Order: sequence, then C-alpha cells, then structure tokens
Amino acid sequence: MGKIIIANWKTNPDTPEKAVKLAREIEKGVRDKKNEVAIAPPMPYLLPVGQALKKIKLAAQDVFWGDLGAYTGEISWHQLKHCEVSYVIVGHSERRRLVGETDEMINKKVLACLKHGLSVILCVGEPKQIRHRGLVLVKKFISNQLEKDLRGIKSSFTSRESLVIAYEPIWAISGSAASHPDKPNDAVEVISYIRTITRKLYRLSPRIIYVGSVNQKNARSFLSQKEINGALVGGASLKPREFLKIIEAAKQ
Ligand code: PEP
Repeated sequence: MGKIIIANWKTNPDTPEKAVKLAREIEKGVRDKKNEVAIAPPMPYLLPVGQALKKIKLAAQDVFWGDLGAYTGEISWHQLKHCEVSYVIVGHSERRRLVGETDEMINKKVLACLKHGLSVILCVGEPKQIRHRGLVLVKKFISNQLEKDLRGIKSSFTSRESLVIAYEPIWAISGSAASHPDKPNDAVEVISYIRTITRKLYRLSPRIIYVGSVNQKNARSFLSQKEINGALVGGASLKPREFLKIIEAAKQ
C-alpha cells in the first residue's frame, strides 16, 4: 500500500467556484497512481468538489455520530455517504481546542464512521506544554488519547484501509512550525510508538501519517521515512503547485 496525502482546506477558499477550480488544478496534476490523494473541502463544497474529482478521493473535515434526526446544525455520516465521501477527519486539534470536542465525542464519531463504512483519519498529538517536558510524556499523552478515542473499536471491522492515525504535534501546525520545526527523527519515534500501542491495545495496524505543517521544502524529509505513511497538509494544500510537489515527494 502506498502513501496517502490529504489536503485539509479548513474554511478555505471563500467561494465554491474557487474550490472547484483548485480541485481541478490538483486533479489535473496528479500522475502518481501508487499513492492515494484526498481533499477535505469545507462541508458546503463537498458536492461540487466531489464532482470535479476522479483520481482524487473526497474527505470531510468532521462528522456527527447520529443518523437522521433532531441534531440541529450537525452533518451526519449518513449525509457524508450521500456526498460520496471516502475519508473523515476526526479529532483535529482545532476542533478539540476551538469547539471543545472531547475524547468521548471523538470516540462516538470514530465508531459511527467505521460501522457505516467511512474511513477515519483520527488526529492525536500533544500541545507545546507537554512537548517541552520530553518525549516520554508525549507518548503517555498520546497513548491516553488513543485509549479513549479508539475505545470499543473492533479489529474485525477495522482494516488498514479504514483507519488512518494522523500524528499532529499541535505546536508544529498552522505556521508555528516556522519558529519550532519538528524533526523527522522525533516524528518517526512518536509514530513508531503509536504503531506499537495500536497493535498492543487493539491488534490494529492502521496507516500512520504526519501532520506538522508539511510543505514543499520539508516534505521529502518526512515522507521519505518508511515509518511515515503519508501527510495531512493544511496551508500548503491551497497552493496547487506546492501541493503537487508534496504529492511528488511521497513517491519512493
Ligand atoms: C492542519 O492543521 O491540518 C495542518 C496540517 O495545518 P498546516 O499544514 O497549515 O500547519
């Protein structure tokens, strides 16, 4: 199985027309058949962006665990399936921090997606205060998140295709990496630990990807690591040329 590169557009761009144009430019430039590429546009653009994609898969930035019913403002896994979404990002640090998403809520989202045939990209990772206290504490923090977020998961309905763990060192994302860049060796150490824990606790072997402001300059240093199965890319995925270079860097 090749690597997976996912674009997380967050609340960009400002119009659906721009989103479709961006998607088309990326779709046109993707030549690599071995690796997988996915785009997570803002929810209202899922349908038009999905229609512009053939080689690239569609991802959602969030989901609600309930089906159809009295869940004002939420978007259920049910609707995502109708939009032909393949992957769902769950537990991104921005949702944990900005809207107070808890591990219990994240766990319900993970279970609902897996049960209903949506692949999950589960984000876990430590804040700066933990990182400053060393990698031993980082591992403890992440193992606690994994234990809560994956509770009740069954290896029988979770394949390598259906679960991706995204290691997100929170202190290294959204521009913070310029002042505190992560080191590929440190990322590999944490990712190897996540691999051990998911195997030990749940007998799972998910793909484990990196989320730490990957850009055209640092992409190869992270993506050439055997342990790192891909990347979730924020800001750089909004620039088609740069994003295509990151996809190229994933080629082995
Ligand atoms: C993200 O938050 O998903 C992310 C990777 O952001 P950026 O690449 O912009 O740091």
